[in-house]
Amino acid sequence: MEITARVHSIPAPQAFYSGPLAPNVYLVVDGGQAALIDAGYPDEAAVNTRLEYLQGMANLRPAHIIVTHHHIDHCGGAHALRQATGARICLHPTEARLLADWRADAPPDVDIPSGPQTMAERFRSWRRATAQATADCLLQGGDTIQVGRLAIEVIDTPGHTLGSISLYLREEGVLFTGDTVLGLGTVAILPPPHGDMALYMQSLERLKSYQATLLCPGHGPPVRDVARKLQELIDHRQERERQILAAVGQGRGRLEALLADLYPELDRRLVGMARGQLLAHLAKLESEARIARRGDGDDSLYVLP
Ligand SMILES: [Zn+2]
Ligand SMILES: [Zn+2]
Repeated sequence: MEITARVHSIPAPQAFYSGPLAPNVYLVVDGGQAALIDAGYPDEAAVNTRLEYLQGMANLRPAHIIVTHHHIDHCGGAHALRQATGARICLHPTEARLLADWRADAPPDVDIPSGPQTMAERFRSWRRATAQATADCLLQGGDTIQVGRLAIEVIDTPGHTLGSISLYLREEGVLFTGDTVLGLGTVAILPPPHGDMALYMQSLERLKSYQATLLCPGHGPPVRDVARKLQELIDHRQERERQILAAVGQGRGRLEALLADLYPELDRRLVGMARGQLLAHLAKLESEARIARRGDGDDSLYVLP
């Protein structure tokens, strides 16, 4: 599917999530050369669909698979795509390390769907497939990858994960953001060590400075009004901070009270994620000495300093 003549999106059937939640895999192509940006899930149907797409383009062989971060929905298919095409997997050093150390059953941003045991088992096998995506080259902010006459610039955008990168195609004004910016809604930012809200907000400001005209997110549709989108996300997080500071100032600094204030109509299934977001904001405000914490864990009481 062409987004521009030199940027394609390669959709695939998804075993877990479809529609706006499916991860996007992009192809940058110029002068007979190509690179993939992200690799989707590792299931055979998704990987094969993406390979067929490349075959349909005169058997185009990408030289690089640039992975925005190590999560299973972006990195999962990378090893299988490398084996089929000979492309080199490029990762930020932090993500390469997280992938190697990644022993948990599930990454923090992917819920294992409830259902038969076979689903959880399949998920674990995918996780193992994802961990096979060892890096052939390490990339960080300021590096570039050449595709024909196009240069793909790497931008450090930590926050969703600590080594998340975005990519900028200056000639086309196109920004690829992985999970740092989604086409719809807001992304999960967890407290350290998984994520970092303070770094995340700096990353959004950094992206704004590129003045891109088209944003290709890790999930959801392309975004045309890039500046507005980025500002909306910044405003949303700042509004959350104001709400937290107001609640803490009124003596409602317990986690349960804050959750009730911030998410009054929360679906019970989303409590875990909401809690993570709240803790990420609290960690940021605490690191900036704008709030203080008494006690630990669920018994913490946040107060103004
Ligand atoms: Zn992610
Ligand atoms: Zn994702």
